Amino acid sequence: MRAVLYPKPNEIKIVSDAEVRKPGPGEALVRVKSSTLCATDLKILAGKFPGTKFPHIPGHEWSGEVVETGSGVSELKAGDRVGEEPHVGCGRCPRCLEGLYTLCFNYGKTETGHQHIGFTINGGLAEYCTCSVRALHKLPESVSYDEGAFTESVGVALYAIERVGINPGDKVAIFGPGAIGLIAVQIARNAKGASKIVLLGTRDDRLELGRKLGADELINVKSIPDPEKVVKQARELLGPEGVTVGFDMVAEFAGSEDSAREAIQLARRGGRVVLAGSTSPGKNLNIDLSTIVRGQLDVHGSLADPMGICARGIDLIARKLVNVKPLMSGNYRLEEFEKALDDFQNRVGGAYRVMIHP
Ligand SMILES: [Zn+2]
Ligand SMILES: [Zn+2]
Repeated sequence: MRAVLYPKPNEIKIVSDAEVRKPGPGEALVRVKSSTLCATDLKILAGKFPGTKFPHIPGHEWSGEVVETGSGVSELKAGDRVGEEPHVGCGRCPRCLEGLYTLCFNYGKTETGHQHIGFTINGGLAEYCTCSVRALHKLPESVSYDEGAFTESVGVALYAIERVGINPGDKVAIFGPGAIGLIAVQIARNAKGASKIVLLGTRDDRLELGRKLGADELINVKSIPDPEKVVKQARELLGPEGVTVGFDMVAEFAGSEDSAREAIQLARRGGRVVLAGSTSPGKNLNIDLSTIVRGQLDVHGSLADPMGICARGIDLIARKLVNVKPLMSGNYRLEEFEKALDDFQNRVGGAYRVMIHP
């Protein structure tokens, strides 16, 4: 089959003779229809993702059509349209037994059944991908393959929000108007009933799209050199009372030290904060701990999309509560992968997610 292959870090090849792996027990072979990239793909290519062994076929955000199933599979059949989430746990370690298979103790040990699709096993930037059916969610007819490639992104946003929750009428601040942040804005607005959403970011074009997708107020933090003023200005947007009270819920997807600190400072007493942006080590939260302790904040971390949450994410797309179409750009063949990667990296045409059709 044709595939994008990384023979070693920082090297890309398009091959036509990659092996199509026969589905084993509990697996399915999927004809990939739509595949996309996120910032993590740049880390994988650079050899900075510890679990990835080279040569490697990338691709962890994709959708496709089932062509064959392995033994013991009754939940899917040939012809089914599916969206993929990349994490498959071993299924038997303490965290997997809790449904937190994204925190599996047997990470990377494929012999235990663990798979991280596009990370530790070959992914969906290829004509076909073979993976556990546990990673595959059926797409309703109304959800296109391109929309289905956002299965993981919607799951990530939804899980982060559900880590701390949004109550109807809550005042919400969201940091980071990237793909995940803009999906979170829509979930907060359309599915959770937030009364006010303030979106904070560094790029006006992305913030403006955030307004179209449901944010009430925008703050470009780049235009405010003093971080203290970011907090003040965001609180002022809630009116005179908001300056002292703050936000009920704050979600951070920007991944910077400043945004994480400001997220905590924006929360009201007894408020809720979810930090989901910084997935790489090395960043530090320099904050007065009394803000959290005396403010009695619930501050949660959030990683990826466990507990089958992606299925509910797909439902949000199907019911048009989340619109991922504005996040798509381009229409690339697999052979144009390097151009797609380039356009993604340089945000050509404002690219959030470049759409590759293998
Ligand atoms: Zn990703
Ligand atoms: Zn496990």
